[in-house]
Amino acid sequence: MYDNNNIFAKILRKEIPCKKVYENEHSLFFYDINPQAKIHVLGIPKVSCIDLTDFIKKSDPKIISSFFKSVNLVIDKLDLNESGFRIISNSGKDGGQEVPHFHVHILGGEKIGRLN
Ligand code: AMP
Repeated sequence: MYDNNNIFAKILRKEIPCKKVYENEHSLFFYDINPQAKIHVLGIPKVSCIDLTDFIKKSDPKIISSFFKSVNLVIDKLDLNESGFRIISNSGKDGGQEVPHFHVHILGGEKIGRLN
């Protein structure tokens, strides 16, 4: 079950500040507080969903499309298209997910090492 008190839910309710990169009706993008690359941005939909599977299952296709179009827009805004980037979405225990609100990590600005 979705935890309304997770930190990203609090950021969406503006109870906790964030360093915003982009926001629209359906999503919010902000800098990760503990960056793992020169550029490390998190993107979250404004839907109470735990992970990717939950987001896809419970959201209108228009919202899903809007979220991923916003990911693209942010990649453009961060000027990462030419140099490249990595997108990660951790899910569950084995995926190493810490915050139980679906999010994507956008990493770039330098060569990102292999995961293993
Ligand atoms: P994950 O392990 O995929 O759930 O990633 C959660 C990410 O959220 C980590 O990279 C954290 O550094 C990041 N994070 C946690 N709290 C905040 C916060 N208040 N503002 C920005 N990023 C955060």
